Amino acid sequence: MTNTISILGSTGSIGRQTLEVAEQMGLRVAVLTAHSGVERMEAQVRKFHPGLAVMTDEAAAAELAVRLADTDTRVLGGADALCEAAAAPEADTVVTAVVGMVGLKPTLTAIGEKKRIALANKETLVCAGELVMDAAEKTGAEIVPVDSEHSAIFQCLQGCADKREIKRLILTCSGGPFFGMSREEVGKMTRQDALRHPNWAMGPKITVDSATLMNKGLEVIEAMRLYRLPLEQVQVVIHRQSIIHSLVEYRDGAVLAQLGTPDMRLPIRYAMTWPERAYSPAEPLDLLNCPPLTFAQPDREVFSCLRMAEEAAAEGGTACAILNAANEEAVGLFLSDRIGFHDIAQLVAEARSAVKVVQQPSLDEILAADAAAREAVLR
Ligand code: NDP
Ligand code: MG
Repeated sequence: MTNTISILGSTGSIGRQTLEVAEQMGLRVAVLTAHSGVERMEAQVRKFHPGLAVMTDEAAAAELAVRLADTDTRVLGGADALCEAAAAPEADTVVTAVVGMVGLKPTLTAIGEKKRIALANKETLVCAGELVMDAAEKTGAEIVPVDSEHSAIFQCLQGCADKREIKRLILTCSGGPFFGMSREEVGKMTRQDALRHPNWAMGPKITVDSATLMNKGLEVIEAMRLYRLPLEQVQVVIHRQSIIHSLVEYRDGAVLAQLGTPDMRLPIRYAMTWPERAYSPAEPLDLLNCPPLTFAQPDREVFSCLRMAEEAAAEGGTACAILNAANEEAVGLFLSDRIGFHDIAQLVAEARSAVKVVQQPSLDEILAADAAAREAVLR
């Protein structure tokens, strides 16, 4: 059980909800990090009194240091400081809530220090999941998923001692804001349309990923890495209501599901308390007043990002790192209104063809694949 946390990405959607949970549970906060959101960071430091605050943007770090001159909090700047944040000795749990594969090195650092990893930063597992899981196995660091689907699966797997008992994992998917639209209709959707998610309020990158269904593709890979299962044992089912957060089918035919209101504070709290559970003030699920639960097949033609992610998962090696890096850059272009919605999938497909896949890659080969894919998108 967690007593003291460090949050990488504390000013984001997951980071802020983690601080709410920390306050409710009376956890101590050792370290907070953000990229450039100085104002939000200053407010968080004044409220939670961490020993260290990191801004990966150097100019933002300089500004924060001036603003916090009257406090005892040490301020550091730059990307390398994220690893120092991840290693801070006071914390027993590191919440990885940064967006993108920038989370990889600090996650590996925290694993090296045998911290519990409350893992939200799925891009890290997508691009280097095997290395991350191997490192955790070596040091004994616990990796507890925060992503709601993976937390649901983690909860349904409690008591499963032998993974051969698992027939398959079933990941539920809301379908996003463009569910049921034709390819032509989806092509006309703008940034504002994509940022309107039906069930969850999240950061902009994952919200766009939820509209393209790349998010579900990344989650398929995340599940494969966390539970070391092949693609054939991870299935995606559209479930518009986001009440069943995911399911595990066992070999005897039993299917276990985890249900709840769509509230990320639930999986965040469980990542802190596991293997125990703690009281939560959250709205309880009212089965008698919830909408009928429906299920459908995802459309992999309109939402080709899901198909491409599954193809990368099947290919293995650096394929997933290439897919992820290309997607990060393409979503960045879409969020700054420089490309259209279908261009995201197009740019990812082009990067996948342009960059050669290396099997059983080292960390350096993964980083090189990531860089090459970004270059392929931006040139
Ligand atoms: P947000 O965009 O809301 O927050 C991102 C956080 O990371 C902010 O603190 C931001 O700082 C920081 N950050 C941004 N860029 C960098 C960078 N280059 N280097 C270091 N830090 C950076 O994202 P979310 O909270 O939505 O998502 C975080 C992670 O959790 C993602 O991997 C996402 O896929 C995953 N996740 C999120 C869910 C959700 O409900 N939001 C659900 C499941 C998973 P600043 O504010 O200064 O920019
Ligand atoms: Mg999810």
